[in-house]
Amino acid sequence: MKALVTGGAGYIGSNLVDRLRREGYEVWVVDNLSQGKVQNIAHHLDDAHFHFINDTILNQSLMERVISHVDVIYHLAAVVGVKYVVQNPLQAIITNVRGTEIVLELAHKYWKKTLIASTSEIYGKSEQVPLAENSDRLLGPTSVDRWAYSDSKAIDEYFALAYHKLGLPVVVVRYFNSYGPRLDAKGYGSVIARFVNQAMRGEPITVYDDGKQTRSFTYVDDTIQGTFLASNCPEAAGRFFNIGSSQEISVVELAHKVKTLLGSPSPIVFVPYTQAFGNNFEETRRRLPDVRLAEQTFGFRATVPLDDGLRRTIAWFQETCGSGGSGSGAKP
Ligand code: UDP
Repeated sequence: MKALVTGGAGYIGSNLVDRLRREGYEVWVVDNLSQGKVQNIAHHLDDAHFHFINDTILNQSLMERVISHVDVIYHLAAVVGVKYVVQNPLQAIITNVRGTEIVLELAHKYWKKTLIASTSEIYGKSEQVPLAENSDRLLGPTSVDRWAYSDSKAIDEYFALAYHKLGLPVVVVRYFNSYGPRLDAKGYGSVIARFVNQAMRGEPITVYDDGKQTRSFTYVDDTIQGTFLASNCPEAAGRFFNIGSSQEISVVELAHKVKTLLGSPSPIVFVPYTQAFGNNFEETRRRLPDVRLAEQTFGFRATVPLDDGLRRTIAWFQETCGSGGSGSGAKP
């Protein structure tokens, strides 16, 4: 089997590449290294069954050559992360919408099975937890850049559904706060990457707002397992699946956990959203997935407890960045 992983040099993408190679796939990666890092795939570069193309998914003729050649597409390339989207909404919208349009148009032309990576941001600030796949979305006004991310991925989902209506086997997975090795610490990987690096350096751990907002952090091995199972389940085609853990934790609890696991002297400080994101920002206060559909459809359930996943992630940061924590790890 031949697979294309768009965004395959990114944090989730490169972990997926590892899995696909272990499963015996020949893998093509298209990644322009805007958020991905060549270090994430360096161990595959001499492999005859691995092919890296350093280019944008917006290059239609390139994408046509690659897509016509492979059997399955994992479309993960996107501008991800609230911070990046808020900083550059135009790039996020173009990459996420136009990029997916190109991928699906070509997948349809050459009739290739496709998985589209989406996000729990889809649900916006809805507090109807646990968030089921068919829950209402609740977004703020379009003047708040954060929601451009949610809407750009929602358009991707509409595209996926529309092509499925034409018969194309396409499945959508919605990731819930994935974390693990290769998270970016220097740029903006996730709150876990930030807290681990702050704690490693003995710097203040920056909890935004009151820290009572919650997330369901999902270890990357679980994220990849859900992705792989979804793409190999024919009944999943034309549907959307939460890929996340049902272990919910507040951000301030997370800060204490990271501090304790590292035995760090870092103080925990509270930072207003306005200081972190400016005045025009809205937050998702609770984010907990309903995990039943993925379990019923393709037997996926996240299994790595947060403490274990954090230990493994911390070990990776310590190995990669040293105790000084340069944070030069991989970008998501
Ligand atoms: N967060 C925080 N301190 C930081 C970075 C993030 O308290 O230094 C909070 C952020 O406000 C959010 C949560 O941690 O409530 C998860 O943030 P992340 O950017 O990892 O993911 P997302 O907001 O997309 O869920």
